[in-house]
Amino acid sequence: MTTPFVDIAIIGGGPGGLALAQGLKKNGIDTAVFERDPVRADYVQGFRMRIRQRGIDALQANLPPHLYQAFLDTLGLAPTETLILDEGFNRVEDAGQATREPEDTHIEKSVSRITLRQILLSGLDGIFQSGKRFERYETLRDDTVVAHFSDGTAVRANLLVGADGAGSAVRRQLLPDLGSIDTGVRRLAGKIALDAAARHGISPLLTEFNTNIRPRDGRGLMITSHRVDPSAYARHDFIDGEDPGHADIPGFHFNNSTSYTWWNTAYDTDELGSDGVLERLDGAALIETLLRRIGHWDERILRLIRHSDPSTVAFLKVKSSTPGRVWQTGPVTLLGDAIHAMTYFRALGGNTALYDSGLLARELVAARRRGKPQRAAVNDYENAMRDHGYEAVRSSLSAMQRNVGANRPLKAVPAL
Ligand SMILES: Cc1cc2nc3c(=O)[nH]c(=O)nc-3n(C[C@H](O)[C@H](O)[C@H](O)COP(=O)(O)OP(=O)(O)OC[C@H]3O[C@@H](n4cnc5c(N)ncnc54)[C@H](O)[C@@H]3O)c2cc1C
Repeated sequence: MTTPFVDIAIIGGGPGGLALAQGLKKNGIDTAVFERDPVRADYVQGFRMRIRQRGIDALQANLPPHLYQAFLDTLGLAPTETLILDEGFNRVEDAGQATREPEDTHIEKSVSRITLRQILLSGLDGIFQSGKRFERYETLRDDTVVAHFSDGTAVRANLLVGADGAGSAVRRQLLPDLGSIDTGVRRLAGKIALDAAARHGISPLLTEFNTNIRPRDGRGLMITSHRVDPSAYARHDFIDGEDPGHADIPGFHFNNSTSYTWWNTAYDTDELGSDGVLERLDGAALIETLLRRIGHWDERILRLIRHSDPSTVAFLKVKSSTPGRVWQTGPVTLLGDAIHAMTYFRALGGNTALYDSGLLARELVAARRRGKPQRAAVNDYENAMRDHGYEAVRSSLSAMQRNVGANRPLKAVPAL
C-alpha cells in the first residue's frame, strides 16, 4: 500500500499547529494536522490566555476574515487597571514601573483557550485528524519525510512540522539531547465564578482590577478576571459557548460561558509541601494547604481562596526549555513549545507559538508561490523563530525570578 502524501504535515493541534494549518489553507497550500487527543482537557485549557499584539497579528494574518472577526468579538474582557495590596489589604504604591519590559505595555487581551480552539478548528474538516499519536519519522533519499503514528498509519510530506508541545516527540528525535529544566517553581491557581464571588461577598477590589497581593514577607498572589459576553457567541453560531468534549467532566473548570475571577501564586520547591504530597492532593486539599500558609492575611483575601471552586485548583511544576540550540535545516522543523517552551511568567508562550505560525506560513507561501527554495524558506523561518523564541524564554525566566523571588531568592532558577 502506498503511503498517503501531504505537502506540509503538522504534528500537534495546539494553538501553534492549528494557526499554521489555517494560514496554509488560506493560501491554498496542502496541509494536514495530526493530533493525539480527541479532546483537549489538560488543566490549563480551562483558563483564559493573555494574548498580546504579536499573537493577534499572527491570527489576523493566518485566519480568514470571518474567523478573525469571531476571535475579536469573542475576546473576554479583562480588567484594565492594576492595584497592588499588601497582605493586610492596604494599598501599596507600584515601585516596579521602571523594571517592566516594553512588551508589558503593549495591547493585550484575554482569550478563552476553549473558544480560541473552536475558532482555530473551524473550517479544518478533512485537514485536522485526531487520535493520531506521532511516534517517529524517517527521512527519505528524495528529501521527503515519513511520519509514523501509533495506530500503524503513516504519512509522507515535503515538510514535517513538530508543533507537539513541550514534550515534543518530534524534537526528541531531531534534537535528542535537548531536555527541559525544572525551574523549582511550583504554582497553584484557582477560579471562582463572578456570581459566586458576589454571593460570598468577595471585595470588588479583587474582582474589578488586576490585583497583585504583595506581602511584606513571602510569595505574592495575582488576581484577575475574565468576563464573557454570551451575545458574542450568538453572533457567530459556528462557535459553541462550551466544548462538547468537556460535557462529562464534572465541576466548573471547563465551563466556558460564565465570567470568573481567578488567582495564581507560586512558591519555591518544598515551601508549601513536598512535590510527592502536593501532587496527590485534590483541589479542596490544595486550598486548605494554601490557606494554612497565608492564614495571617486579611480575611477578604482568604475568602476568595476559600470559596474558589475546588475543581479549578491544581498544582503545577513550572518548567522551561534551554534556549540557544541551533541545528541544520532539513525536512523537519519545530514550532511553539516544541522548541521554546517557557514559564508562564510574562504570558509569552502561546503568543510566541502563534507568532511562529505566522512566520512559517509566510515563508512557505514564498516557497510555494514565489519559487523560494524550501530549504532557504525553512532556514529563514528557523533563524527568525529562534531569535524571538529564545529571547522570550530568557525573558520569562527573568520575570519569574523577579515575580516569585521578589522577597526571597529562588533555589533553582538557572542562569542562562
Ligand atoms: C499555567 C500556564 C499559563 C499560561 N498562560 C499563558 C498566557 O497567558 N499567554 C500565553 O501566550 N501563553 C501562556 N502559556 C503558555 C501556552 O499555554 C503555551 O505556550 C502554548 O499552549 C503552546 O502552544 P503549542 O501549540 O506550541 O503547544 P501545545 O499547546 O502544547 O499543543 C501541543 C499539541 O500537540 C499534541 N501532541 C503532543 N504530543 C503529540 C504526539 N506525539 N502526536 C500528536 N499530537 C501530539 C497535544 O495533544 C497538543 O494538542 C501558559 C502556560 C501555562 C502552563
